[in-house]
Amino acid sequence: MIDMQNRYSRQMLLREIGEKGQERIGNTRCLVVGAGGVGGPAALGLVEAGVGSLTIIDADTVDISNLPRQILHTPERVGMNKAESARIALTAVNPSVPVRAVQSWADDALLTELASDADIIVDCSDNFRTRHAANRVARACRRTLITAASVRFSLQVSMFDFSNPASPCYACSFPEDDQQDVKAAAVGVFSPVTALAGMIAAGEALKWAAGMPSLVGQMLMIDTLTWESSRMRLARDPGCSVCAQH
Ligand SMILES: [Zn+2]
Repeated sequence: MIDMQNRYSRQMLLREIGEKGQERIGNTRCLVVGAGGVGGPAALGLVEAGVGSLTIIDADTVDISNLPRQILHTPERVGMNKAESARIALTAVNPSVPVRAVQSWADDALLTELASDADIIVDCSDNFRTRHAANRVARACRRTLITAASVRFSLQVSMFDFSNPASPCYACSFPEDDQQDVKAAAVGVFSPVTALAGMIAAGEALKWAAGMPSLVGQMLMIDTLTWESSRMRLARDPGCSVCAQH
């Protein structure tokens, strides 16, 4: 039996978290969409910190070219489903957190089903189709949503609390038809930046879970090449088709 008080003691020493915040973290169920360079580190940060449970979804299999940044996967698990490989790694680092691997593409129907067992959705997918599906489902199910992405040397993290019906959504700022995927496979990505994006997402999820102020309603952008960063408040678009349905 692992001594939980001891395991989380450094985090509980923080006045902002304390025993109460840790208990809240321990009652928070997380859904992580994508088990790649961003989703893996996000899941790692959440499981290490002692969230209540974590479901991770990915249909893809581990490829050798993933290994420099997709830090949960190992050379022995090349060819294995990424969600399952992540589950093995996450269970090894903190066996007390139940981790479920869903080996499938994330569409609206599946995400809706998974959202019923989740308090927060952390979208770390690498394509806009999934990103918009996660946004629609989180909005419809009134869950908190974090979207995290990285490309080249930059990262972007935004957060929405849909328990507030007046919240803007991801599509308010980035309508679905306007967007084209910018994939790491096409333009490249600096390995540590993906983990940074994932860990920032995990940190915001934990702060939210503990009842602390978080990035809710805002978008954070960091360019690690120049260290220029910006944080902006997201606004609701009165013409947003996703928000119009709620
Ligand atoms: Zn919207």
